[in-house]
Amino acid sequence: MTLRDQLLIGGEWVDSASGEVFTSTDPSTGEVIAELQKGNVDDVDRAVAAAREAAAVLRGTGVEQRAAWCEAVAGELERRVDEIAAVLSAEQGKPVGAEARGEVLTAAKGFRDAAGHVRHLDGTIPFAEDPNVRVLSIRRPRGVYAVITPWNFPVNIPTEYLAPALATGNAVVWVPAPTTSHVAVLLAEAITAAGVPAGTLNLITGPGAVVGDAAVAHPGVDAVGFTGSTVTGQSIARRAAGKPLLLELGGNGPTIVLDDADLPKAAAAIASGAYFNAGQTCAATEVVLVERSVHDELARLVTEEARKVRLGRPDDAETTMGPLNNEPTAAKTDSHIDDARRRGAQVLEGGSRKPELGSDLYYSATVLSEVDPLADIVTHETFGPVVPLVPVDSAEDAVRIAQAPQFGLSSSVWSRSASRAFAVAEQLRAGIVNINESSTYWEIHIPFGGGSGTMSGLGRLGGMHTLLEMTEIKTITFDTRSF
Ligand code: NAD
Repeated sequence: MTLRDQLLIGGEWVDSASGEVFTSTDPSTGEVIAELQKGNVDDVDRAVAAAREAAAVLRGTGVEQRAAWCEAVAGELERRVDEIAAVLSAEQGKPVGAEARGEVLTAAKGFRDAAGHVRHLDGTIPFAEDPNVRVLSIRRPRGVYAVITPWNFPVNIPTEYLAPALATGNAVVWVPAPTTSHVAVLLAEAITAAGVPAGTLNLITGPGAVVGDAAVAHPGVDAVGFTGSTVTGQSIARRAAGKPLLLELGGNGPTIVLDDADLPKAAAAIASGAYFNAGQTCAATEVVLVERSVHDELARLVTEEARKVRLGRPDDAETTMGPLNNEPTAAKTDSHIDDARRRGAQVLEGGSRKPELGSDLYYSATVLSEVDPLADIVTHETFGPVVPLVPVDSAEDAVRIAQAPQFGLSSSVWSRSASRAFAVAEQLRAGIVNINESSTYWEIHIPFGGGSGTMSGLGRLGGMHTLLEMTEIKTITFDTRSF
């Protein structure tokens, strides 16, 4: 049965102004899952108007009220975890047992976390030269946020914005990725079930280049939160010029393995960082720069790990890796592997699609060795389940190659020497460097984002950091003798 979803505007579930629809499909079979409303600029106008009304209401709410809403959303997500995880898995492709349930529960934690942090979102009382004057610097919501999110973590990434927005009293116009818009409807339902004022969250499904663009550029939108590709992020930065921006963009997770590393541990972490969510993670281990003397041994160990991956149907409890979400991602993975091969890389494991599993989007866990540092797979973001091993001459050589692509999101370095590991960690421009841990290691309260001057974004997400980004300092001064 095909489900029929609607837009959420001003607390009402409604059809799009145009009456047009689109569908989302199951990447493991190609079957249609849901029919979704194809929003247009008129829908965005209505959503922004509703959000502006809600923002005025939210400004008058207390911290405890907003924290209680966040906790109610968390409870709703926990109550519906099996249902939401099943839809997330079916629509996105990630295995339901190994990953999708965890994503929904992490989202619930994100709402609880925001409730906890907002109770400690304190202002300051700077001094004034006049002893009778008091200065209050308090934190206020920015107003209306446009939030645009990708399909790789379609419950968790939206939560990184929606939970702190609700906690701090911002209203939101949310544009989810088209391929995972049905699970977005379920998340929106969980938020409205908490009893938030009408218009607090507005959901507009449809093509990002139309509705996402209209939302970020809209004069009624005060600020923007975006997670997605660098190219789209750059367009948003132009279209939303002058507005406060949180941009979480691409990365290619360089992982540097020095010759004194614990190789079995590094191999296990590299495999988990590269194959988690079939490699469709912004912090995924996409490039391994390994000192030449240990290249072959690491390649052998990573290949052993790749062979443990159970590629299969997302709804099978034994599956550890499902299909890719969409054809452009699979095509980019094909092209990056072909390019690496042409430049002399050896395919130690995988290297191709597995259509016999049910759709053309299944991709085998792949290991490439002897990869040229100028190959596309090293210099670009792949977003597929591939470990390319690039032999390097030294730690300095590794840092030079890691910096070349201008990404600076997440990295990892492996060494038994603290001084060598820290020397590398401090030189990398990445926003987060994990020593002797996967490039994907993160907890939801830890600051996460791109290094300045890189193509990986702007600002920091995570715990209190997002609440600070989503509020502005309002300064109020008064003379104590003036009343
Ligand atoms: P994308 O940029 O193609 O799309 C992201 C969202 O933007 C989608 O909802 C899309 O509909 C919308 N969009 C597209 N064009 C738009 C436009 N012109 N204006 C406004 N919105 C528009 O990215 P994707 O393929 O969905 O996601 C994968 C990318 O996201 C990867 O590059 C990945 O690294 C990045 N990502 C980053 C993080 C992070 O935290 N830094 C996390 C996850 C994913």
